Amino acid sequence: MHAIDTPFLLLVFRTVARRLEENRDALCGLDGEIGDGDHGTSMANGFAAIVTALRAPGMAEAPPGQLLRTASMAFLNDVGATVGPLYASALLQAGKVLEARPDLPLSEFSAFVAALTDGIAFRGKARAGDKTMLDAWLAATHAARLQESLGAPPADVARKAAEAAEEEARATATMIASRGRAARLKERSLGHQDPGAVSAALILRVLADAVADTMGQGR
Ligand SMILES: [Mg+2]
Repeated sequence: MHAIDTPFLLLVFRTVARRLEENRDALCGLDGEIGDGDHGTSMANGFAAIVTALRAPGMAEAPPGQLLRTASMAFLNDVGATVGPLYASALLQAGKVLEARPDLPLSEFSAFVAALTDGIAFRGKARAGDKTMLDAWLAATHAARLQESLGAPPADVARKAAEAAEEEARATATMIASRGRAARLKERSLGHQDPGAVSAALILRVLADAVADTMGQGR
């Protein structure tokens, strides 16, 4: 109850996979404007592969750290694009936070988001403002940490994190790419949102909804 545990993560992975499938074409369209047009396919297929891997016998009873390691491997094995190692690293880092413990209280939600963000930053070597998915993850981490420090309840912390990611994903349209899919376009990347930031915001919105549901506050 009121924690990031195995049932919470199973629900989140299933919901993220469904939402990415619904947004497959839109994300491919965004990537087609400034990249190679595969982002929706990579994300939808990668998270579908995670859901399949987590259907294996025993996974529903596995500790959350093991769940996240399994998800990381499934994503890495399925996704050949650059995003493969990035989310694999994010999930592995989140798994370390939950290593040797049955759950993470939702009062420590920011630590979970920060670990995912650290995994992406470590593997991708992008910085804030480079117009990549990291911008959305950093905005979410900062918002979550701020709200937690102010004593906000977990549902509000998670909602503010999702809102910050959505706002930052929109703001990537005003950034000139210096790393990632659109770096070669430089100024010509202006006016286009980074699809990785858009899909990151989508994941954070699913997390926020799951936290709200778990806290029993509805949506
Ligand atoms: Mg691409």
